[in-house]
Amino acid sequence: MTAQAAARLGFRAHIYTPGADDCGLQVADDFTVAAFDDIAALERFARSVDVVTYEFENIPAAAVDAIAAITPVYPGAAALRVTQNRVREKSLCLDENIPTAPWREVSGLDSPRAALAELGGAMILKTTEQGYDGKGQWKVDEQTSGRADEIWAEIFSNRHPGEGREPVRMIAEGIVKFDFEISVIAARGIDGEVKCYSPVRNEHRDHILWQTHAPAEISPALAARAEGYAKRLIEKLDIVGLLAVEMFVVGDDILVNEMAPRPHNSGHWTIEGATTSQFEQLVRAVTGMPLGDTAPRGKFVMTNLIGDEILRGAEIARAQDGIFHDYGKGVARPGRKMGHVTRKL
Ligand code: AMP
Repeated sequence: MTAQAAARLGFRAHIYTPGADDCGLQVADDFTVAAFDDIAALERFARSVDVVTYEFENIPAAAVDAIAAITPVYPGAAALRVTQNRVREKSLCLDENIPTAPWREVSGLDSPRAALAELGGAMILKTTEQGYDGKGQWKVDEQTSGRADEIWAEIFSNRHPGEGREPVRMIAEGIVKFDFEISVIAARGIDGEVKCYSPVRNEHRDHILWQTHAPAEISPALAARAEGYAKRLIEKLDIVGLLAVEMFVVGDDILVNEMAPRPHNSGHWTIEGATTSQFEQLVRAVTGMPLGDTAPRGKFVMTNLIGDEILRGAEIARAQDGIFHDYGKGVARPGRKMGHVTRKL
């Protein structure tokens, strides 16, 4: 989608990906299929382009450093370092006085009872890095807290990807009884200008984003606060590009949950729903163009097509009078985001 937006602005995209079947390759002008630790390939790639951005934040820091030594990478390595790690993200919010769920860093050597007691008898354990769509997360609630020691031992000894590298560190969060979830996508240009898209309301199913309702039906005061947090975070992280910030709304409070320095699934509605899509905005930001207008062009609902729902995608879109996007991902594994439908209300 970024390559498509780039082409519309007269730029050619060269995609670097470890996956030969990456769907971005359908629309790229050039591509390199190589691993993120192939320094020679990264350097060749860096020499062939004027600027680099990414749409996936779990890239090894060494890969970004190798590219950045040759050509600019936006957002830069410092922002990536923070947004790759939940402890650093939460610490940034703490420094900025931006509310989050109560949390503490824990290791397999700590007592689960102490964490549980501090967080009110229920918690979600999350890997500090690499988790998404509920992967790398375990809930310990009132029903299961009696088995906390057992669950703890299982997570830390068998299932955690960092197995063998003791002590494994995770983050334990108190469970927030939120009213609903929202997100804000902020964009920042090379000159420091910041523009935010309106907050949107997100509904998850099985931890996976199912629907985005744009704009969120919230008060102007709440919307301004949410945009204010996103603006402060993108400035603090000194990002050129995009920052998506996911938040919980609890009454009149907003808690920041997590952030990603890239286009976000909850911004897919902007392709049809905003004057400038999030993808075009990213291209504008990293190429030094002025940022585009972020105003919504009405009310929209974006529905993800997950797993084999993609097989009925065209049918679902027609029934909704919506716009169908098929990412061309090939294998429709359960839980995999395969496409989406955007409907104007
Ligand atoms: P995350 O990977 O942190 O975005 O978490 C995925 C989803 O799990 C969120 O969108 C929420 O629906 C839920 N969740 C995550 N953290 C919490 C929390 N501390 N309290 C309640 N629900 C949460």
